[in-house]
Amino acid sequence: MKTPFVTKEQLDKICSQYPTPFHLYDEKGIRENARKLKQAFSWNKGFKEYFAVKATPNPTILKILQDEGCGTDCSSYTELLMSDKCGFKGTDIMFSSNDTPKEEFKLAADLGATINLDDITHIDFLNKAAGIPKRISCRFNPGGKFAIANTIMDNPGDAKYGMTKPQMAEAYKRLMELGAEEFGIHAFLASNTVTNEYYPTLAKILFETAVKLKKETGAHITFINLSGGIGIPYTPDKEPNDILTIGEGVRKAYDEVLIPAGMGDVAIYTELGRFMLAPYGHLITKAIHEKHTHKEYIGVDACAVNLMRPAMYGAYHHITVMGKENEPADHVYDITGSLCENNDKFAIDRKLPKIDMGDLLVIHDAGAHGFAMGYNYNGKLKSSEILLREDGSTVMIRRAETPEDYFATLDGFWDIDL
Ligand SMILES: *Cc1c(COP(=O)(O)O)cnc(C)c1O
Repeated sequence: MKTPFVTKEQLDKICSQYPTPFHLYDEKGIRENARKLKQAFSWNKGFKEYFAVKATPNPTILKILQDEGCGTDCSSYTELLMSDKCGFKGTDIMFSSNDTPKEEFKLAADLGATINLDDITHIDFLNKAAGIPKRISCRFNPGGKFAIANTIMDNPGDAKYGMTKPQMAEAYKRLMELGAEEFGIHAFLASNTVTNEYYPTLAKILFETAVKLKKETGAHITFINLSGGIGIPYTPDKEPNDILTIGEGVRKAYDEVLIPAGMGDVAIYTELGRFMLAPYGHLITKAIHEKHTHKEYIGVDACAVNLMRPAMYGAYHHITVMGKENEPADHVYDITGSLCENNDKFAIDRKLPKIDMGDLLVIHDAGAHGFAMGYNYNGKLKSSEILLREDGSTVMIRRAETPEDYFATLDGFWDIDL
């Protein structure tokens, strides 16, 4: 059972203030979850979560997470600019990019961000672009398949990211020659994992790699970055991850591998995006059409431009019809947006209570990789973002796009005869 973080009464009031569709975020949920993560890793002195900005690139959200002690993880020029503007300084910023243009390395270096190199050839590229900083990280890809207890979780051998094990050692040596003094290891081997074993399994691999790298190169390794990948249960039948159990699992691997190797001062970093925000964002939309043809359709005022995951990955997002939570789910609907694309459906053959025109629908778990993945296909405009404060008040933290925004990059469009 998934319950919205707002009541129907609350939402009716919010919708009288802001036109649908919009993304609604729950400040209380975001803060409580961030505190729990911090608690789970409180055994590690240097622990820090670097929120993956790409998941929810909104300055108000970043400031909330900053207030909870988080830094940011960036992978582009504008994400760096946003972090800087929000007051994240120097080592509060992780720059975990790939296929990186030189201007982006330059800005990351100027801001004093910790640069996480995706490839060995980027060493010379970075050296030319901005010089080699004293503190640096390298991204590891062990190749093959990543499995937990014989279950294949993902396929790093097919992923474009990271360096091989021999390249890691070579990269460390080369970086030391160029003046680097302090090293980190990063890896992201599986996405949206719903198991308490992902981080502990990954941690063990990285800790063992760190011990070997230290022996082989003499590098001073000060941090290990477990990156993103802790998922959330999008479907109501799944159990959520227990972050306290996950933290304990990582601690066990730390005690087994790093402590005996005399590396008990290594800081643990995370770069979570989805886990930090997804459950604390709803896409709020209104039913505006019902269509009875070969199937039963409900047309809503949001579309894939506002939440692309169902169209892109066939992803499940739970839907609550507000005010009908206790009514039987005795209708089967496709819930569609208005794009001229047949994959613009938030749900296919979904059992729901009878939907009437004007009903408000909450599309769950849209707080990460939701608004952020938006685009402007069909000339559709992006929605606003609204924050539900802890005291129950709301504030608009991004206005909706207007046609003027859409045409803004066509310089002089309205002034010239075409
Ligand atoms: C996307 C990404 C993350 C965040 O991933 P989630 O699945 O949202 O936790 C973290 N680090 C890097 C380098 C990423 O590309």
